[in-house]
Amino acid sequence: MLPSMTHNAHFIGNQWVSTLSGETLPVLNPSSGEIFARIARGNRADIDAAVATARQAFAGPWGRLSALERGRLLARWAEAILANQDELAGIESTDTGKPLKQARADVVALARYFEFYGGAADKLHGQTIPYQEGYTVLTIREPHGVTGHIIPWNYPMQIFGRSVGAALAAGNACVVKPAEDGCLSLLRVAALAAEVGFPAGALNIVTGLGAEAGQALAEHPGIDHISFTGSPDTGKRVAIAGASHHCPVTLELGGKSPQLVFADADLDAAMPMLVGAIIQNAGQTCSAGSRVLIERAIYEPLLERLAQRFSQLRAGPADLDLDLGPLVNRKQQQRVWDFLSDAQADGIPIVAQGEVVDEAPAKGYYQAPVLLRDVPPASRLWQDEVFGPVLSAAAFDDEDEAVALANGTPYGLVAGVWTRDGARQFRMARRLEAGQVFINNYGAGGGVELPFGGVRHSGHGREKGFEALYGFTRLKTVALRHG
Ligand code: NAD
Repeated sequence: MLPSMTHNAHFIGNQWVSTLSGETLPVLNPSSGEIFARIARGNRADIDAAVATARQAFAGPWGRLSALERGRLLARWAEAILANQDELAGIESTDTGKPLKQARADVVALARYFEFYGGAADKLHGQTIPYQEGYTVLTIREPHGVTGHIIPWNYPMQIFGRSVGAALAAGNACVVKPAEDGCLSLLRVAALAAEVGFPAGALNIVTGLGAEAGQALAEHPGIDHISFTGSPDTGKRVAIAGASHHCPVTLELGGKSPQLVFADADLDAAMPMLVGAIIQNAGQTCSAGSRVLIERAIYEPLLERLAQRFSQLRAGPADLDLDLGPLVNRKQQQRVWDFLSDAQADGIPIVAQGEVVDEAPAKGYYQAPVLLRDVPPASRLWQDEVFGPVLSAAAFDDEDEAVALANGTPYGLVAGVWTRDGARQFRMARRLEAGQVFINNYGAGGGVELPFGGVRHSGHGREKGFEALYGFTRLKTVALRHG
């Protein structure tokens, strides 16, 4: 069903459609830095075509399906995805540089989203509201209509799953603009949607650049809701574009998530999660645990343990399946280098570094994991999202200082707390400004079932879990006066 990877096309109305301009973009393999595919360079005209097709589907066969039938389609799609796990993981790993085991986990998570939202589709209902004598008042949850989804390159399948899965379950038709650096797996997933029987136009994908296809999608008056995941700056542009046609926008914009380790913590349990939360996907995770705050009594011993582990970590080509793969592109690699050279200029000490293995091609975008200590709260390293395998450590003396340090960035996506003190667990959960707080674990975004989203510069709106279904619907109140 999917044309060869060098045959570039959008997926519109269950068909492969060439871009109207005929222009294409090269796709580079981050492990080697070599071009291995081309994608269609979508523009405003392609977005117009995709939105028109989605609108027809919403007004037609897709819009007329019952919630039960939509749920069954999602469940069938999940099965097809799992049946093609190896192929999808291979595509994702080559396209984004993810180690194969991470790419396989992403395929399973994608299927899990469709299982979850498939099961939820026919359980989304309104309420009756007690009102005046002689009235019956009820609420109906209706789909927005056509939803736009702008997806980043760090977890193409997972973020597509959480956003498109919920939108389709709620009855919307979708137009998706994946990232130019991570869209090939989604084209294959779209082909599977057609194979399992989704009516034409329920799902449409237009590939291309953010400033072209992405901007056109966000500005399009035929789009009734936008879900965006990516950087705060682009999120602002998308929100402004949405506002230009009074379109609701959900933003998930990353973070600078802290893990707080108190002296009474179970350090054996914490260690793998302190390390895993920053090296997963080479640190290119919105909910990466990129700051570790350590109670002073255990600062030196815990840093020593972390340093020992960091010095063992190895980065290399995705197919070697090491601790981490390359970064996604040259721009991200340069971004990480800039943070590290600023840190050096500020005199922030590096405690330990991993290695890039000899087999890594020189043109790949590799970065060894780095652990830094005594990172000043005002530094760029403490305040800004690096989006690389860079862990910043600092000491604190008491709960108040820990909370002030944890909350002292513009972000607020996820936080982790490690302590055996039950009362402190609750105090911290209440005081930390984040969309998710993990106590004695760290979910890096958490499960499919758990509502997820940020505060402040991390964005607004909630995805995942049942909560996402409310975001992908609008509520209508019906007041019937019957006397
Ligand atoms: P980005 O925010 O520019 O891109 C994310 C998505 O938005 C892509 O699909 C892109 O094509 C699209 N886009 C870009 N400009 C657009 C526009 N004007 N209108 C509509 N869509 C547009 O992110 P990036 O440049 O790939 O990465 C830069 C930084 O963003 C990273 O270093 C990282 O800090 C952050 N980031 C965060 C996440 C996350 O999951 N929160 C994901 C990717 C990147």
